Amino acid sequence: MTQLSQDCFAHGGDLIRLDDALELMKCRLDVICSVETISVGEARGRILAEDVIASRAVPPHTNSAVDGYAVYHSDLDPNGETEFLVQDRVPAGHPLRGRAERGQALRVFTGAMIPEGSDGIGPDTVIMQEDCRCLGNRVFVPPGVPKGANMRPLGEDVAEGEVALTSGRRIRAVDQAIATAIGASRLHVYVRLKVALFSSGDEVCEPGSDLGPGQIYDSNRIILFGFLRALGCSVTDMGILPDRLEDCCSAIATAAQSHDLLISSGGVSVGEEDHIRAAILANGSVDFWRLAIKPGRPLALGTIRVFDRVVPYLGLPGNPAAVVVTFMQFGRALIMRLAGAEEPPPRLFPVLAGFSHQKKPNRREYLRCILNSRSDGQLTAQKAGQQGAGILSTVSAAEGLVELPEEMEYVAVGTTVQFLPFGEIG
Ligand code: AMP
Ligand code: MG
Repeated sequence: MTQLSQDCFAHGGDLIRLDDALELMKCRLDVICSVETISVGEARGRILAEDVIASRAVPPHTNSAVDGYAVYHSDLDPNGETEFLVQDRVPAGHPLRGRAERGQALRVFTGAMIPEGSDGIGPDTVIMQEDCRCLGNRVFVPPGVPKGANMRPLGEDVAEGEVALTSGRRIRAVDQAIATAIGASRLHVYVRLKVALFSSGDEVCEPGSDLGPGQIYDSNRIILFGFLRALGCSVTDMGILPDRLEDCCSAIATAAQSHDLLISSGGVSVGEEDHIRAAILANGSVDFWRLAIKPGRPLALGTIRVFDRVVPYLGLPGNPAAVVVTFMQFGRALIMRLAGAEEPPPRLFPVLAGFSHQKKPNRREYLRCILNSRSDGQLTAQKAGQQGAGILSTVSAAEGLVELPEEMEYVAVGTTVQFLPFGEIG
């Protein structure tokens, strides 16, 4: 079959499938960050290095879920209203000084601790104030309230001794809340992965500077900077590598001395002006570098030897859309691995294709898409526009990527396809 020279994927060679590349990466690399202890308040986005065990239960005492009256269910008349004397008033944070008496009701408020009873067993049911009738210090409770209603038993949320948060988890604001609720004030987390971030190319120019003839602004670095920060990395901006092998070699060797991971975009193709691969080889080794995805190929995963350490190197493609796709699909997993995060891969959601599309077999393809909701509620994906690897505007316009698997060759309108929202990456 004739291959069109327009198609940069037509050039042969041994491509590696994304899943195989991820598997290889996981076999070869492991967490490289050490552990530090920080306060819960600082822990958002950090990765837990140990399970967090609940040293106390949540809630720490049985309490009322509503404003109402706490009673013993066995005191209730199943066939009619029951009249109680109101023994005392128990607001939240002000436990009853004495003990609850059977045959009486306690006026309680949301969060109020349910006391023990004089026989050791406390009230077991709370009736909402809206359902009761009050007359002076007496309350009339309707029948039919189930035992245990409106009670929040001790430990119903988290039991004492339970694993509240597991090692490898990336801490969200709600996780900070759980840690706080179980009485943890400090957490053992992995030290942030230190990433050195380069761009490359003689045509690539610092943002904000005057653009000379033939130059373009560096748009990749700002994308990657944002992605890396969102993943909790500590990022050093290493600027732009020129298209000169010696300069690439020395910059890479220097950066490797003080970082856990080096990332660059551009310069990893086989062209005469692509020096990144050779520069990695000069300082270490390149493990593989041809990924069977579109947009995406080429990609380099190497290692830089520095003294007694080996520092991984991720060489991403130069084209901005390829940078986004390869980072989402490979870079993110690599970073999670090195940083100690044990998270499932980003979740895909089934939607209907609102377009038809021809694709080549044996490579996975990612289409930038926007979702529309049909009148029956079904989500339909539309292409966001031009899909070229160098087109950035459609990455910006899209809400996510439709993933077309390797074996697929044609997508008809109405086919169920998998959608990866951009929000899943961070
Ligand atoms: P390369 O892999 O170096 O041949 O780059 C592929 C394409 O991506 C070329 O058109 C480059 O100009 C472009 N490119 C490389 N790096 C960047 C960057 N940092 N920002 C925007 N475009 C880039
Ligand atoms: Mg280049």
